[in-house]
Amino acid sequence: SLPIIELDRDVAAAVDAELRRQQSTLEMIASENFAPAAVMEAQGSVLTNKYAEGYPGRRYYGGCEHVDVIEQLAIARVKELFGAEAANVQPHSGAQANAAAMFALLDPGDTILGLDLAHGGHLTHGMRINYSGRLYKVVPYHVRESDLRIDMDEVERLALAHRPKLIVAGWSAYPRRLDFAAFRRIADEVGAYLMVDMAHFAGLVAAGLHPSPVPYADVVTTTTHKTLGGPRGGVILSRADLAKKINSAVFPGQQGGPLEHVIAAKAVAFKVAASEEFRERQQRTLDGARILAGRLLADDVAEAGITVLTGGTEVHLVLVDLRNSTLDGQQAEDRLHRIGITVNRNAVPFDPRPPMVSSGLRIGTPALATRGFGETEFREVADIIAQALKEEQLSDERAGLLRDRVDKLAGAFPLYPHLLYPHL
Ligand code: PLP
Repeated sequence: SLPIIELDRDVAAAVDAELRRQQSTLEMIASENFAPAAVMEAQGSVLTNKYAEGYPGRRYYGGCEHVDVIEQLAIARVKELFGAEAANVQPHSGAQANAAAMFALLDPGDTILGLDLAHGGHLTHGMRINYSGRLYKVVPYHVRESDLRIDMDEVERLALAHRPKLIVAGWSAYPRRLDFAAFRRIADEVGAYLMVDMAHFAGLVAAGLHPSPVPYADVVTTTTHKTLGGPRGGVILSRADLAKKINSAVFPGQQGGPLEHVIAAKAVAFKVAASEEFRERQQRTLDGARILAGRLLADDVAEAGITVLTGGTEVHLVLVDLRNSTLDGQQAEDRLHRIGITVNRNAVPFDPRPPMVSSGLRIGTPALATRGFGETEFREVADIIAQALKEEQLSDERAGLLRDRVDKLAGAFPLYPHLLYPHL
């Protein structure tokens, strides 16, 4: 019963340092967010001790009466939030959710169509050395070189030529909305299942600020920790007639005991996501991304050979195109890190640079919106980023001035002020 500070100073020190990093920098990794304290409380609870293989009311262990309540709450809330007929809240992560959904619908060797990783898809949508690329025959689709939007004509052409059993729609790095109706029409044309991986934009969907894939897709997978703002984890939504197959694909197909502490945290997050406060936050997330895109499209940035993929954004992130800049993705990421802004470099479609260096940056606004940023603050952070990236060389003096502006923003929006980890 010793507190962590006494039991394990090494881990406590690193946790403390991470809290301070989150508090003192501006988090703009598009897939990250800040979970509410109540979510972390649920996740750090005694539920971590409980084995509960099976599903509510049908467990393989005794003593599940309370975790049953929790899991049922999580299921009911997420079904209500997205208007889904069935939900499985047990996947440990987004990758696990996708693995289980594919396991339910496909046999090894079946053909799937997914967005190419290099064009914004996720590893689990068919990357060569991911399970998805190893177990299934993958036919990747792409964005068009002319406007960098998903080429639905190519999706249709490939579907007709390869007759996939599953079409995956969804992305990790794409700044536009998908045409779910068009994906459905193509899937129907070839008798394929349609799976939408809404991991990135689920929060926007929950808030009613992005079209919902649920009416169109057979299966919708998501993470719970990106725009949705909950604990790290995954969820599978589906039509009622697929629920049994999906449940058995998650357990015993892919996983053993569910993480009931994380499921409790998911339930709390779904409650938050149904609130007006959450909707307003997602609106600020979208507004912030639009402000950022607007600033990075201005003439002074364009003169440095920097632009924004697709000329803007309809979601919570902006993809910066550095293909014509002397600055590469690695240098740009490092430069923003130097002034206290955390982003990740990202390959852009048709990237001439190698993936470890890349010619893009992915910059997202969910975490800063959660922190409380509104239009004024997003204008300021957008200008800081523009100033940092457009310089041929960023002198220590200029970097220092930009860092001061970052510090001022971070200081004005305290993060987790009640979390008083001991100073070590
Ligand atoms: N699906 C998409 C579209 C993602 O962007 C991600 C994460 O980056 C995942 C799935 C995987 O989620 P996780 O990291 O929880 O496995």
